[in-house]
Amino acid sequence: MLHLLAAVVLAQPTLPAEVARAISADRAKANVEALAAFGTRHSLSDTTSPTRGIGAARNWLKSQMESYRGGLQVAFDVHQIPPMQRMPQGGEIMNVVAVLPGGMPEAAERRYYVVGHYDTINADRMDPTRDAPGANDDASGTSVVLECARALAGAKLDATVVFLCTAAEEQGLVGAKAHADAAKARGELVMGVLSNDIVGDPSVNFFSPSPAASGPRSSEQFVRLFSEGIPRNPGAEEIAEIRRLGSESDSSSRQLARFVAYVATRENMAFRPMLVFRQDRFLRGGDHSAFNEAGFTGVRFTVPAEDYTRQHADVTERDGEPYGDVPTFVSGEYIANVARLNAATLVHLANAPRPPAKARMITAQLETGTTLRWEKSPEPDTAGYEVVWRATTAPDWEEAIDVGDVTEWKTPASKDNWFFGVRAYDKDGYRSPVSFAGAAAR
Ligand SMILES: [Zn+2]
Repeated sequence: MLHLLAAVVLAQPTLPAEVARAISADRAKANVEALAAFGTRHSLSDTTSPTRGIGAARNWLKSQMESYRGGLQVAFDVHQIPPMQRMPQGGEIMNVVAVLPGGMPEAAERRYYVVGHYDTINADRMDPTRDAPGANDDASGTSVVLECARALAGAKLDATVVFLCTAAEEQGLVGAKAHADAAKARGELVMGVLSNDIVGDPSVNFFSPSPAASGPRSSEQFVRLFSEGIPRNPGAEEIAEIRRLGSESDSSSRQLARFVAYVATRENMAFRPMLVFRQDRFLRGGDHSAFNEAGFTGVRFTVPAEDYTRQHADVTERDGEPYGDVPTFVSGEYIANVARLNAATLVHLANAPRPPAKARMITAQLETGTTLRWEKSPEPDTAGYEVVWRATTAPDWEEAIDVGDVTEWKTPASKDNWFFGVRAYDKDGYRSPVSFAGAAAR
């Protein structure tokens, strides 16, 4: 992956690294063990026992979030679900949500999410009674949400951050869908969703198809990051626009994935995201898709390689030890690395200015050069803008130029030959994700 050149030398903000340092591998693992100890967290399991089932699990999650204090507003996010295939009786489900309200009036309506699902299944998706510890799937992602909430609880951020543990993911993304639809109905500005699903077990090696590769690669040092290219529910007009621009790989979700890679570089993290330009893995789904379905920007973190003998499986025995999706196969250090990448990204997203609106190339008449225009970001600490570009065949932005605090830039280079974008930066050294430049008459 190419790394974007920094056009302007910005101060290195210290908060992302501080927050990443506050994340603990021991706590990350202890969260997984605590969640697995509820036996099952199946969405149709018992809600009256204080020690077993999804009711006990969600009470524990809420009490954990509340114990972090800081500025977190913690609540159950309750939804009444009509009867559906994997919830034949329908019923009440509860997500656990903590909100850290943004401190800058011009930025506070922007909301950035970190998400993990806390429900589980065993080999029988409809079995609410037998054990389903779900350590990797997805106590690991839930643990990422908890550690991000704990590390960020006391931080002062410009935009709002939401820490969401969803229910009934395994019954069909039910909790995430209900939450995303409600957020859409309320007109909330959900500008980025980082979903963490199966982010705990790096023991399966990653393979390249190349015979020249020197063998399997350890999965310890990276995490896959899936993002959609063409938005999930485009209208005919939007599809026509994508075709005209050649912007199949420039959705807001794809820009968010590139932004996570940018943050890892800027923060000098040894642990890296491997960008996969697909919405998700084959035969599998995840909560980011429910947000995408509602029209929101969202991506999915997941381990480099999976062992399907342990996923959605019954707990059995191997060599006298429990075998299945049990905490033994989950690494606290790996989860902590994923959480650090999420937390640093959330800080950059929340403190950077809003990506410039209406970034566009002017196509009023035939001319060999390019004129770019955009609108100012509303945050008062916005210090300027960078124009970025790449070859039309390149996967990530290749070059950038600081153009100062303006809303127009011209180059003799032809718009036919490059993809352009614009990002804003503030006086503290935070850059926004890139706004892809469309085309317009003025
Ligand atoms: Zn999952």
